[in-house]
Amino acid sequence: MSALRFQALQALAAGEEKKIEGYGDKKITAIFGTNVFSGRTIREYLSDEAYKSLMNSAKTGSRVERRMADQVAAGMKAWAEKQGVTHFTHWFQPLTGTTAEKHDSFFTIKSDGSAIELFDGDALIQQEPDASSFPNGGIRATFEARGYTAWDPSSPAFIMEAGSGKTLCIPTIFIAYNGESLDYKAPLLKSIAALDKAAVEVCHYFDKNVSKVTATLGWEQEYFVIDETIANARPDLVMCGRTLLGHAPAKGQQLEDHYFGSIPERVFAFMQDYEQESYKLGIPLRTRHNEVAPCQFECAPIFEECNIAVDHNTLLMDVMAKVAKRHKLKVLLHEKPFAGVNGSGKHNNWSLATDTGVNLLAPGKTPRTNLMFLTFFVNTIKAVHDYADLLRGAIASANNDHRLGANEAPPAIISVYIGKFLSDVLDEVETRVKEKFSEQDEVILKLDIHKQIPELLMDNTDRNRTSPFAFTGNKFEFRAVGSSANCASPMTVLNTIMAETLKQFKKDVDALVDKGERKEIAILQVLRDYISKSKKIRFEGDNYSDEWAEEAKRRGLNNFKTTPEALDAFITEKGKQVFFDNNVYSKRELEARHEIMLEDYIKKVQIEARIIGYLATNHVLPAAIEYQNTLINNVRGLKELGLDVKSYKAQLNLVEVVSGHINMINDSVEAMLEARKKANDVEDAHKRALKYCHEVKPYFDTIRYHADKLELVVDDKLWPLPKYRELLYMR
Ligand code: ADP
Ligand code: MG
Repeated sequence: MSALRFQALQALAAGEEKKIEGYGDKKITAIFGTNVFSGRTIREYLSDEAYKSLMNSAKTGSRVERRMADQVAAGMKAWAEKQGVTHFTHWFQPLTGTTAEKHDSFFTIKSDGSAIELFDGDALIQQEPDASSFPNGGIRATFEARGYTAWDPSSPAFIMEAGSGKTLCIPTIFIAYNGESLDYKAPLLKSIAALDKAAVEVCHYFDKNVSKVTATLGWEQEYFVIDETIANARPDLVMCGRTLLGHAPAKGQQLEDHYFGSIPERVFAFMQDYEQESYKLGIPLRTRHNEVAPCQFECAPIFEECNIAVDHNTLLMDVMAKVAKRHKLKVLLHEKPFAGVNGSGKHNNWSLATDTGVNLLAPGKTPRTNLMFLTFFVNTIKAVHDYADLLRGAIASANNDHRLGANEAPPAIISVYIGKFLSDVLDEVETRVKEKFSEQDEVILKLDIHKQIPELLMDNTDRNRTSPFAFTGNKFEFRAVGSSANCASPMTVLNTIMAETLKQFKKDVDALVDKGERKEIAILQVLRDYISKSKKIRFEGDNYSDEWAEEAKRRGLNNFKTTPEALDAFITEKGKQVFFDNNVYSKRELEARHEIMLEDYIKKVQIEARIIGYLATNHVLPAAIEYQNTLINNVRGLKELGLDVKSYKAQLNLVEVVSGHINMINDSVEAMLEARKKANDVEDAHKRALKYCHEVKPYFDTIRYHADKLELVVDDKLWPLPKYRELLYMR
């Protein structure tokens, strides 16, 4: 009994710490990007012609012509082989939530039977992975189950090292035979293009030299790290990535001694190791620190163009898991691995940059650039206001429900925090700009505010940590994103709704200009209108409070607490229209995606239900019964000695308490099984998801409550599962 737990604890005590190799005398700049086909490397391996063609495609998203693709492929192969690469793969991000690769060797046999190493333009541009088992939401019937991966020249190829093997990875999109998207990247690229087009047109009000606007993304990745052997003794962590049972330890995070504390050595060694692997891959990591919960940490890079930042985040998650194994550690990217301590998120810092080097969400130094700032700033708020439900839908997952619904992390209600100073500025524009032009407007146009903005901003914006969507000086920070999520989901939505809002803005301004209004005045007037229309999405107070939930309700803001409800936003007419109009998703693609997300939710809850049932029945109950038998034998013995009932009152009482919990667990597991059967009988995915959400999942709490109570009374020697204190405080 309980062998696994004690074996794990023994192994941990006996285990040797991996020596910290650290960076030695290596400078980060010396290893940065060494495994990436970009920058100087490209120049070295490509002809001028091929280089220009590749750079142009990276910039404009256009296709690389076939002849050039052959040259690029040859250059890539020459570079890769020099590093000892034997295989290549199209690397893509299907909707499973992980990355996918299928390796092919360069090696091939010619028609005359001789062997050569070959990698041509065809192999670079397109592959046809046997992809029938990736989620597709009914887009592909099995007979037409062809899927294609197509090269994304805007994200550089890289070499992935695993053990002694090296593979050349080509970032690709993944689409069905008819072009419908089956991954995260294809719609993301489309949303980036839509935003570029709409933003450039609005930029032209202020600066004709702008020819490209890119969305920028800087993510902050939170994660837990625990001992691998101990983690492996918990079937729930192995199968679900989170603990389904476990009583809170005597010491949780209440002392707040972990946050920004010194990093434990074993974890520090792991961090330096994964950082170096990341640097080689060109991931520009910048920050590392402890987070609030025990064993919780965070890392963040320097921000990058959105598409590349998304690739880098998915790559990092992969690298972390692999490197952790070397250190006999396990990285938990789940949003809520442990009850009672904070969960993990992935803040998405988002802004817009022009090819003239301007951050459109950074206040300027002159009245003109400040009006440009105000334009993009107010349009973002308006976009979030108009499409809050889509943003909520974009971060919905079975995992993230544990954060967004609970009293930590941002709530499920989407609101925007901009700080007192900018609130005052917007209020001023709203009250001082009148329907008709007045002298006043000239004053505002010169924006008597402009002088103070830059200095004051930094101090005044980063105060509220409870907001799901906060302005932090020169960017917006979307904080409700889950730690295991692919950033492409929220970024695709944000880019799309911003594109739509900017398009409308341009129409509204042009309409006034056509009526003879001066451009700047027209802009101010439309901004005033947007400020007033989007006011209810702005909230400066404590987002965790019950008062906010009530206030939000009065304002008519939605509060979708669960994934099946939150996902509905994608299939409303409004939702479908905005994606369709911006050429991001066809209506069919969106319906398919909605279905995939529902299925994902159902499967996750279903697996958790099975595991919690198994843990309760096969681990917890046997331990409780064994302990109860000991108690019964003890009572029997005391009775035989002829002692008074008073002398074994405590034992008798315990026997009863244990019985009570055993019965409750047993009944709940059986009832949960019945609820699951009923849910599985439901054909419609949406209704099935609701059943899993409201009729299956609630049993988790009951089962857990009684199992955790048993953990408190059952003899420690008999308890089979590593306890929270062992998971969270062992070094
Ligand atoms: P914190 O939010 O912890 O105070 P910072 O404000 O320095 O930290 O930045 C957090 C993240 O925001 C970093 O990943 C950084 O790269 C990113 N970031 C900074 N500027 C931008 C920008 N213009 N666009 C997108 N991300 C940005
Ligand atoms: Mg931040």
